[in-house]
Amino acid sequence: MQLPISRAEAEAMDAADPLAHLRAEFILADDLLYLDGNSLGPLTKRAKARVEAAVAAEWGEGLIRSWNTAGWIDLPRRIAGKIAPLIGAAADDLAVCDSTSVNLFKVLSAALQRDDGRRVILSDRRNFPTDLYVADGIADQFGATLRLSDDPPADLSSDVAVLMLTEVDYRSGHKYDMAAVTAAAHAVGATVIWDLAHSAGAFPVDLMGADADYAVGCGYKYLNGGPGAPAFLWVHPRNQNKVPALRGWFGHARPFAFDAGFAPAAGTARYYVGTAPVLSMTALDAALDVMDGVDLATVARKSAELAAIMIGQVEAGTDDLTLISPRDPAVRGSQISFRHERGEGYALCQAAIAQGLIGDYREPDVVRFGFAPLYVRHVDAFDAGVLLAGIARERTYDRPEFYARAAVT
Ligand SMILES: *Cc1c(COP(=O)(O)O)cnc(C)c1O
Repeated sequence: MQLPISRAEAEAMDAADPLAHLRAEFILADDLLYLDGNSLGPLTKRAKARVEAAVAAEWGEGLIRSWNTAGWIDLPRRIAGKIAPLIGAAADDLAVCDSTSVNLFKVLSAALQRDDGRRVILSDRRNFPTDLYVADGIADQFGATLRLSDDPPADLSSDVAVLMLTEVDYRSGHKYDMAAVTAAAHAVGATVIWDLAHSAGAFPVDLMGADADYAVGCGYKYLNGGPGAPAFLWVHPRNQNKVPALRGWFGHARPFAFDAGFAPAAGTARYYVGTAPVLSMTALDAALDVMDGVDLATVARKSAELAAIMIGQVEAGTDDLTLISPRDPAVRGSQISFRHERGEGYALCQAAIAQGLIGDYREPDVVRFGFAPLYVRHVDAFDAGVLLAGIARERTYDRPEFYARAAVT
């Protein structure tokens, strides 16, 4: 692709796009440029219908009987079966529950159980803050040390118990080589936890192929499960003998025996804690059907095209935005970020949103756009690049209302 391309070329790419039909699964205004599916995936028609039916019939009429009659009790397992092929895992090695943060607590507490006395958790200084906060709390509670590095694979040493990384950096989009980094960690005897928040559903992930130890991931980003959707965790079979520090009745071998003592359920079922949020589970379960049979290599290829188209338009249209993401899609997740030369990225982002281009802002001064190829078209990437470059060039963001900070950026 010779950049920048023309809008007619973008239209031609849409016409030949094997994923184009999937956009009709989503409830999205035709003129909205939604490049924030990496933060919150949009509503699918299937999830809307399923949740409405679950509220009216399953909750409204079935009441408590629905745990059995509507199969509520099996929802997490059903969802695990749909997430598993997206991440190179077996469904039995997954648990679908809680938030990514809480799941990270659970797998970290298990990963630190070692016979060799190692107590160091090594992570990336730029990791998503919640991951670092959870690790900090775990370190406090379990007598471990959180060690932050600018280049964790280079800082692997024989005192590291756990290497905890997010595969794709939320700010820059930089993507680790999961297999190579896992092998390097294993070479010094460390266990590896991967956060797949910006990976699952965006490109092929192969946890078993990479020989990872643990993983966690998010249900409301590329999996489109809805705001606060249940997250997931994965544990390699060789690590499933450990029992996490956070225990509840849904992780008991016999929850309805109401024993006073905890007896862990087999495998990853012991990672369940409390009652599942059934309506949120229902939304995620329905949304995942959109991905059934979708080839993630095709998704990743289209993502690279979308990013290239937008980068081409932005760089052709303004000198005020600098790409801070890797140019090579092989080392980048499904997002691109720009730094604003005059530090006005926040206002720029607000002005773009006011004109129907939704991305988001991340400190310090990063404007970020995610590409979810199930519903983002090539013309959307083209139009987004033209619009963003125009706002930066004309400085139409320079108005007081665009500088006002909202609670959520
Ligand atoms: C989005 C994200 C999370 C989200 O955590 P929640 O507990 O679901 O709020 C966690 N880690 C990373 C790396 C993320 O990008």
